[in-house]
Amino acid sequence: MNNYPKLIAECSLHHITKASISVMCVLMCITSCGKTQRVSSQSDIEKTEWGYEAKNGPQVWAQLSPEYFLCAEGRHQSPIDLVNPTPTKLPPIPYNYRPTSMNIRNTGHTIEVACPEGSWIEVDSTRYQLLQFHFHAPSEHTVAGKPFDMEAHFVHKSEDGTLAVVGLLIESGRHKFEFDPIWSHLPTAPGETQRIENVTEDGSLIIDPRFMFSPNDQVRDVAPSRFGNYYRYEGSLTTPPCSEGVQWIVLTTPIEMSEAQIAAFKAIIHDNNRPVQPLNGRKLLVNSTKDE
Ligand SMILES: [Zn+2]
Repeated sequence: MNNYPKLIAECSLHHITKASISVMCVLMCITSCGKTQRVSSQSDIEKTEWGYEAKNGPQVWAQLSPEYFLCAEGRHQSPIDLVNPTPTKLPPIPYNYRPTSMNIRNTGHTIEVACPEGSWIEVDSTRYQLLQFHFHAPSEHTVAGKPFDMEAHFVHKSEDGTLAVVGLLIESGRHKFEFDPIWSHLPTAPGETQRIENVTEDGSLIIDPRFMFSPNDQVRDVAPSRFGNYYRYEGSLTTPPCSEGVQWIVLTTPIEMSEAQIAAFKAIIHDNNRPVQPLNGRKLLVNSTKDE
């Protein structure tokens, strides 16, 4: 019985001690844990942040994160050199791209234009929604070893999650007016998104992707329209995690952009091209018919 108050006292003391320890821990954390956490999370970022320099470029992507293992071990990787294709009667690929509001973002790796729902292509009777398009300089795909000044990738996704990317090769030549709305608002800082005043309610930009494909600025303004001749093969994302099962469609006819347009892009983003990957027995097909 006499022990009871003592027990209570001990318990309270215990509580007080525990409470003080907790408070001390919290204080210590505020003063030191924060620093430690910051350092460790920063080193995590440094460990996993991929790029195009020697320390974080395509040659070491797989070493930056276990999730990037396909970048080294994948057998169906992109881009590739488009050489010795097998001529085939490939079906036309209808595209229905609508003029709509879009935001232009500097991701640090590229300039990317995000597209709201409503634009699509059809490949093998499957519909793929246009998610975004972005640019590489120089091109990622080469044609018989020849690189182009730039390449645009139009990334689409089907309902079951399969990706189809349309590659558009770009060479130096005439000014491409259809890119002016984007080029006049290129976001220069990584993470920056350009919003255009007085265009749409949400402040984003109206551009019409249909006009970008025309090599000679002649727009066949019918919806849906069809791409011209194209290469076709199965590959991967050209950036980490280098996921495979991507349907690649690279148009055979390059478009032109002016030296000034190409230079304006390269002043912000340059050398963001993964080198070509081995074909490893995959089939590379190309239309055998002439463009309509
Ligand atoms: Zn790309």
